[in-house]
Amino acid sequence: LDGNAPRRIKALSQTVVNKIAAGEIIVAPVHALKELLENAVDAGSTSIEVVVKDGGLKLLQITDNGSGINKDDLGILCERFTTSKLKTFEDLASIGTYGFRGEALASISHIAHLTVTTKTKTSDCAWRALYSDGKLIPPKPGGSAEPKAVAGRQGTQITVEDLFYNIPSRRRAFRNINDEYSKVLDMVGKYAIHCEGIAFSCKKHGESSMGVAIQSAAKTVDRIRQIYGNSVANELIPFEVEDKRLGFKAKGLISNANYSIKKTTMLLFINHRCVESTAIRKSLESVYTAFLPKGSHPYFYLSIEIEPHRVDVNVHPTKREVNFLHEDEIIERISDSVQERLAAVDTSRSFMTQT
Ligand code: ADP
Ligand code: MG
Repeated sequence: LDGNAPRRIKALSQTVVNKIAAGEIIVAPVHALKELLENAVDAGSTSIEVVVKDGGLKLLQITDNGSGINKDDLGILCERFTTSKLKTFEDLASIGTYGFRGEALASISHIAHLTVTTKTKTSDCAWRALYSDGKLIPPKPGGSAEPKAVAGRQGTQITVEDLFYNIPSRRRAFRNINDEYSKVLDMVGKYAIHCEGIAFSCKKHGESSMGVAIQSAAKTVDRIRQIYGNSVANELIPFEVEDKRLGFKAKGLISNANYSIKKTTMLLFINHRCVESTAIRKSLESVYTAFLPKGSHPYFYLSIEIEPHRVDVNVHPTKREVNFLHEDEIIERISDSVQERLAAVDTSRSFMTQT
């Protein structure tokens, strides 16, 4: 063999391509969970229950009481780019709901065993379907791949088992499943705080004690109290700002000067999706330096609504860091108004202690 001869180029099989793409979107159990939570919220649920085994690697089960999925749609549910949330390219610009690429369930089906049990209001029974590599599969080899009629209540239950079973290197990379469970709890907690009106629970499989348990009637500040504790919930200031020209409004709860922690806690939702923004985090941290002792940091929950055509949540396949139009100006407006709120509270406090 001539060692210098170029190797022939071959196309990867579709299954391998799908598996790689899915592994890029879903890096850890929490990423699958986030997509499934968003789907449950999108479906108009008022109750969302999460059960986890081995940090979500063995089992991730989300049960909601939302709209359910039509039996006739189950065949294409897990194909790539199938969605009920986007019809034309133009719709992309004005989409109001969370995810819209129709990729979450498809991705999960490429790297886990996926079971969907769902019932709509008008259906007489629930339907159960199993998926692999984007397609319906029979429960037992040689059986029928058709959805099976089962008993069930309205809503959808998504069961994700053995995540990364076919990517052993990724599976092995999770040394500490407790860390993965913490990330899952953290994400459920964040959505529980953001989604007033919806009951949330999260627990480990086979255990009765809940990691998260929020009643549907609980107000935002009480949701924060239950998840992050009294010490922060008692020191929160409501905050609101709107700018028509920049096409955004923001509101939330921010910690006052009495509260501080070693590391900033930021709950950031942009158009109701939990996201990361280093620019916002940095800007608000710097506002707080004038109010907090050196080396201590704030807690803030911020919900920003930006006209959908100005946001780009899909810059990165993992959708964690977002970008939006007039980003610098919007962040400046938010920071200024946080600054004003903190200063106002600070003044009234020192005024009170003086008199
Ligand atoms: P997307 O959310 O981007 O549309 P997904 O792959 O997450 O893509 O979901 C595909 C479709 O499956 C959704 O558009 C929705 O119609 C349906 N779906 C998924 N999860 C649920 C759920 N929990 N309840 C009702 N419908 C759901
Ligand atoms: Mg989705």
